[in-house]
Amino acid sequence: MLKEYDVIVVGGGHAGCEAANAAAKLGSSVLLVTMNMNTIAQMSCNPAMGGVAKGQIVREIDALGGGSGIVSDLSAIQFRMLNRSKGPAMWSPRTQNDRMLFAEEWRLMLERNQNVDFWQDMCTGLITQGEAIVGIKTAIGVEIKAKSVVLTNGTFLNGLIHLGEKQFGGGRAGEKAATGVTEELSKLGFETGRMKTGTPPRVDGRSLDYSKMEEQFGDNAPSKFSYSDTKPLSKQRSCYITYTNPETHEMLKEGFDRSPMFNGAIKSVGPRYCPSIEDKINRFADRDRHQVFVEPEGWNTIEIYVNGFSTSLPEDVQIRAMRLISGFEKVKMFRPGYAIEYDYFPPTQLKHTLETKDIEGLYFAGQINGTTGYEEAACQGLMAGINAHLKIRNKEPLILSRSEAYIGVLIDDLITKGTEEPYRMFTSRAEYRILLRQDNADIRLTQIGHALGLTDDLALSRVESKMKGTEELKKSLQMEGVAVDTANPVLTKRNSAPIIQQVRLSSLITRPNISMEDVLGMSVASKKLAAKLTKNHPDIVSQTEIQLKYEGYISREEDVAKKMNRLDEASIPSDLDYSQLKSLSSEAKEKLSKLRPATIGQASRVSGVSPSDISVLLVFLGR
Ligand SMILES: Cc1cc2nc3c(=O)[nH]c(=O)nc-3n(C[C@H](O)[C@H](O)[C@H](O)COP(=O)(O)OP(=O)(O)OC[C@H]3O[C@@H](n4cnc5c(N)ncnc54)[C@H](O)[C@@H]3O)c2cc1C
Repeated sequence: MLKEYDVIVVGGGHAGCEAANAAAKLGSSVLLVTMNMNTIAQMSCNPAMGGVAKGQIVREIDALGGGSGIVSDLSAIQFRMLNRSKGPAMWSPRTQNDRMLFAEEWRLMLERNQNVDFWQDMCTGLITQGEAIVGIKTAIGVEIKAKSVVLTNGTFLNGLIHLGEKQFGGGRAGEKAATGVTEELSKLGFETGRMKTGTPPRVDGRSLDYSKMEEQFGDNAPSKFSYSDTKPLSKQRSCYITYTNPETHEMLKEGFDRSPMFNGAIKSVGPRYCPSIEDKINRFADRDRHQVFVEPEGWNTIEIYVNGFSTSLPEDVQIRAMRLISGFEKVKMFRPGYAIEYDYFPPTQLKHTLETKDIEGLYFAGQINGTTGYEEAACQGLMAGINAHLKIRNKEPLILSRSEAYIGVLIDDLITKGTEEPYRMFTSRAEYRILLRQDNADIRLTQIGHALGLTDDLALSRVESKMKGTEELKKSLQMEGVAVDTANPVLTKRNSAPIIQQVRLSSLITRPNISMEDVLGMSVASKKLAAKLTKNHPDIVSQTEIQLKYEGYISREEDVAKKMNRLDEASIPSDLDYSQLKSLSSEAKEKLSKLRPATIGQASRVSGVSPSDISVLLVFLGR
């Protein structure tokens, strides 16, 4: 009945949307099979995108030609650049989003692509031929053929929802769990595990007293995620902050004996850095308050997301505890918080392309790989969609290195180290975080997206202008000297040591208190040049400032990355018999045999593999 597709994407969440969009944009025929077409691109938890390290990922997705950045901009209700007081490696864009508009914009983007077909159904099985995937089976008994399949089942595989002492099957509140896929994959020899996550209650905004809370405004001059021509927000909605207190905590504790977290009902591990409120008051017993962010769910809705109050306590405890929070005295609850347990597949079973090692043409992306978060899921979907397409066309895969992108760090971490608790991205996971900034994701990745055919000529010419202009301004500041009399009044005003002889303008930017604006104020010619170049690209002045200010750190990280990348280019045959390498430690033999790393670099990041094991491998491979 249905034709044979190049790529079937199972699941219409963040990973699935990116996978379908990417493969289809590249020219593959794509079928998006999802259980409910009305919940495509549903934000299961908070209505927000980006944040620390995650914002960098959204910008990377955008630079490569993915959809999440554009959709986030089109549905944003507030924009903030987090960590502005820290160095540029820490700057992280974040939007509050209109939940319904976000889903609508994603669906529109997919519907506009003629290569994407949709099928509402549950995938219950896989069709394989030898060790390759050839299609899927669905709940209504349809078999659909494809050259490759991307599984992005999220939290749905045998999902079990917990609310107090009650438990019911479900993939998300109000949606049924997906069955069949885990069982089928287990039969094929895949290892599987269980994880847990949770979400807070949603409440009626009309029942809150905002006068008792701190208002949190968006940025004065809001930026945006996408490097394309999406517009920054001209109006924004505020969020609010309030706090729990000892009375709230006491009330929550009263429900602990009915909590699935504490009575043994929940057996799996949840996200360490997104703990439930009961977990917070239990683990940090000395803290008498916790922040609660009161976040609107959209432009035109009264519904509020109570960020920081994730809980699976019984609904009566949730409401009673919330009513003890300042501003929440008369709160009405629309949807209680809950926890969910679901199946995942340890990601060490995957290659860097996100293709499974054992079944050719089968890819996993998103929460199914043990990650948590929309951004983490979306970037995996993008990479799986790209690689599924490239493989069908017999083209080289796209693998991003750890020094090129957070996406590279995430995938390498997952497939090399695996994860036993929900994996979320942090800046601290990236060893080259000065290279992986939100301001230069376009410089790092647009050319790659363009070479693939995912980003258009306009995107490429934009980034080329930015790069060219930055170089020109940098050169000018490196060449032009500034006299003592011109520089010192500005330096003194900024509490920076005066100069005793003429220096290059660029050398002053490296000083902590001195900004680009100060330096441009010392030279009419450079100021004119900056104004002219800004017309070509608005980021040129700020990019020049960052590149000059952090030049030393940047070049040091580039040197280390170059050395490390050489190890990542040294491939290891996939059939190497580690047991015959006598000088390898037994731990290395065991772990490397199981993981089968693709390169020496990857082998070096496996825990338990020492530098001397790496030397043995290098000697054996004749390098
Ligand atoms: C209760 C809850 C709390 C969460 N809390 C947090 C949090 O605190 N912090 C955080 O960062 N993230 C949180 N998340 C996680 C976040 O929602 C996910 O990381 C993200 O949505 C994963 O994206 P995904 O595309 O992998 O899967 P999902 O967004 O879950 O999408 C999966 C899609 O696959 C479809 N599907 C599943 N199985 C099948 C099948 N067999 N056949 C057809 N279609 C199928 C579903 O209908 C759905 O469209 C939470 C999620 C839930 C449910």
